[in-house]
Amino acid sequence: MNRGAVAEISLKAIASNLQIVKKLVRRRPVIAVVKADAYGHGAADVSRRLSRHGVSSLSVAFTSEAIQLREAGIKVPILVLFDKGDVEQFFDYRLMPVISSLKNAVSFSRIAKKRGVVMHVHAKVDTGMGRMGLSGMNIMNDLVKISTMDNIELAGLMSHFSEADLLDRSYADLQLKRFLAVKEKLSRILKRKIFSHIANSAAVLSFPDGYLDAVRPGLMLYGYLPFSRYTSDISSMKVEKRSGYSLTPSMRVVSKVLCMKTMPAGSPISYGRTFITKRISRIGVIPIGYADGYNRSFSNNAQVLVRGRRAPVVGSVCMDLMMVDLTDVKGARENDEVVIMGKQGKETITAYELASRAQTIPYEILTSLGSKSRRIYTG
Ligand SMILES: *Cc1c(COP(=O)(O)O)cnc(C)c1O
Repeated sequence: MNRGAVAEISLKAIASNLQIVKKLVRRRPVIAVVKADAYGHGAADVSRRLSRHGVSSLSVAFTSEAIQLREAGIKVPILVLFDKGDVEQFFDYRLMPVISSLKNAVSFSRIAKKRGVVMHVHAKVDTGMGRMGLSGMNIMNDLVKISTMDNIELAGLMSHFSEADLLDRSYADLQLKRFLAVKEKLSRILKRKIFSHIANSAAVLSFPDGYLDAVRPGLMLYGYLPFSRYTSDISSMKVEKRSGYSLTPSMRVVSKVLCMKTMPAGSPISYGRTFITKRISRIGVIPIGYADGYNRSFSNNAQVLVRGRRAPVVGSVCMDLMMVDLTDVKGARENDEVVIMGKQGKETITAYELASRAQTIPYEILTSLGSKSRRIYTG
């Protein structure tokens, strides 16, 4: 028997979410973000599908991720967001770097010159995220220097929002204003248009001013809204309906009942005896634990679906196993399908619900469950 759960990935759902992005941003190019193994969905399969449906390019965090895609036969342009080492690999695999420092640009220029080619780069401006990117007094100087370096073509300018997911737009507005100021000034100095992009999913969904020349959605391609106000609401399916976006979650995570036991009232369950049965109980053991990305904070704090009914997780989640109370699930038995996340019958457990229970965000739920499960693809 294999460890862990099975993640059923619907490529059809991802394709349909991409159509929603395209409809919102009209003709603008879509740079689809497939970092962290496509948010746990499997970057190669997802990217293959996305490129069939016309994304202009893909975006990953590190060169190793981009190389995996090239080796899987993905041909579309790939923008590498956060790398700085491995400069030669950008040339070997036809990758496009995001430049966050002058020093970084110099090494690309030097190697491009040596190889007798022109390297297309995007430069990143830190407008208030406080992570990567050019910032400070010298920013215009640095940008002009980069764009005039030998064998370097400044193909794009980008930045990243830190809180476009909030109802309060003021900080996103400020970041956009700063970004546009840099872009316009650079454009005047270089006497040409500068291709620029800043919009993540939150901006694609709620901030058309930030669309600019291209958008970079991640989470929404996988069927979830990034807004934190939804994560705090367990019944967020309703919220989503009201919001008017019909994104389709693309990951369903399932396991099976490994064994069933009938226990008398007063039986402690799992490490630390944090749950004690109050009645004669039918307890199911499920072969998924925190080593499989099922957060330990789900101990006595989450539900699964069996035979279309919700059943509570009881006791501490173990490394490889967890227990659920199936007393109220009529007819439950060994080998029954157990839905960890997704739909079964009329019930659904969303990544919002799990995120809310674990006090985290849907991003972390998808990456932890998706990266540790065996994946199968549908649609
Ligand atoms: C992750 C990331 C995105 C996508 O963000 P979502 O919220 O998933 O849409 C876009 N741009 C950069 C720089 C990122 O790191």
